[in-house]
Amino acid sequence: MKTSQSAQLFKKAQRLIPGGVNSPVRAFGSVGGTPLVMKKAKGAYLFDVDGNRYLDYVLSWGPMILGHAHPQVLEAIIETAKNGTSFGTPSQQEVELAERITKMVPSIQRVRFVNSGTEATMSTIRLARAYTKRDTIIKFEGCYHGHADHLLVKAGSGVATLGMPDSPGVPKAFAGHTLTARYNDIGSVERLVKQHGKKIACIIVEPIAGNMGVVPPHPEFLPALRDLTKKHGILLIFDEVMTGFRVHPGGAQALLKVKPDLTCLGKIIGGGLPIGAYGGRKDIMEMIAPAGPVYQAGTLSGNPVAVVAGIETLKMLSQPDVFEKLEKKSQKLADGLGEAARQAKIPYYQTRVGSMLGGFFAKGPITDYASAKKSDAVRYGKFFHGMLRQGIYLAPSQFEAAFLSTVHSPESIRKTITAAGKVMKLLR
Ligand SMILES: *Cc1c(COP(=O)(O)O)cnc(C)c1O
Repeated sequence: MKTSQSAQLFKKAQRLIPGGVNSPVRAFGSVGGTPLVMKKAKGAYLFDVDGNRYLDYVLSWGPMILGHAHPQVLEAIIETAKNGTSFGTPSQQEVELAERITKMVPSIQRVRFVNSGTEATMSTIRLARAYTKRDTIIKFEGCYHGHADHLLVKAGSGVATLGMPDSPGVPKAFAGHTLTARYNDIGSVERLVKQHGKKIACIIVEPIAGNMGVVPPHPEFLPALRDLTKKHGILLIFDEVMTGFRVHPGGAQALLKVKPDLTCLGKIIGGGLPIGAYGGRKDIMEMIAPAGPVYQAGTLSGNPVAVVAGIETLKMLSQPDVFEKLEKKSQKLADGLGEAARQAKIPYYQTRVGSMLGGFFAKGPITDYASAKKSDAVRYGKFFHGMLRQGIYLAPSQFEAAFLSTVHSPESIRKTITAAGKVMKLLR
């Protein structure tokens, strides 16, 4: 596999952009080697600047659930752009996307569009603090909620991959308002609430954790969080930036039947263009300016091109059988990978919810950040590069999810399982 063009371009990128990347997870920090520079993407495949083709299980970290360059999404983008790319006024398209989201996600009565998942989470925290008139928040170790100061505490995703301590530049006074609990451990939350109850504004959680690898919630975990927060006047925020429209047309909250007060969205709702959103109960959301006193704004928020890409994506996801088919395919892949590891006789723990897959080189069970961290990073690095040589692009970190799209074919999944079988045998 020739990758000299990639290597050359990445060298140049490193002289111009910190670390050569515009988001740390794109670096090959924990797997070693040089990131590949991509030229184009179509359907389930990525193509690099050297002309190599890869079956893509990263899917731009989640958004491309219909595959890359989906014809219907592309056409909407092009037609909309012809009529102007930003108005700085209300638009017809944003009303339509807002209507779709409020119909599809059970707990969202009002929704505000922003430009990224990070903006969505930081805005909900501000809103929760204003609504409850309290300052302290609780998050879970290994959950990632974007890079806002008060959420960059014991975070997952790139922070976990690079094994970074909490980031410099976050004032101690900010981080001091953030308490951390253990995912899937309601006792750890109860203890914090007992000690700090009257000061806690909100608990923010990934209802299905996807940024320490995929860690599904125990069946009783989210209902217990809901009861506890209700009892103490604490708002419950589901960060569904990854799970929204990924695991169910109504998000994790519809799949797991737990209703949060506020929800953060992103990724899929922009169909591959930059967007985020947050929404929830009417009485809380009406506190946002100009309806209420909590300020939050954005020059390009509700951008018509991003919004139509989202509308077309949600339209396709609303068709019958889409999620059933994704479920079957994903099950097949998860079973195949598990079996490949058994035959290779290496410790491997497979997790999955819908088309979100987690593969840990560890005995398991993996239920939280502490157990996820016990996975063998060196072995994953070898697996990653072995799969890459077979033309399969996985996330360059074990602490990230693998995603499937509606256009991953049964043949491509069989091919993936066969390749994994070969590569895993070499890992013993
Ligand atoms: C990706 C992600 C974010 C951050 O979204 P950006 O658009 O990258 O700012 C926040 N929360 C979760 C759960 C995510 O997966």
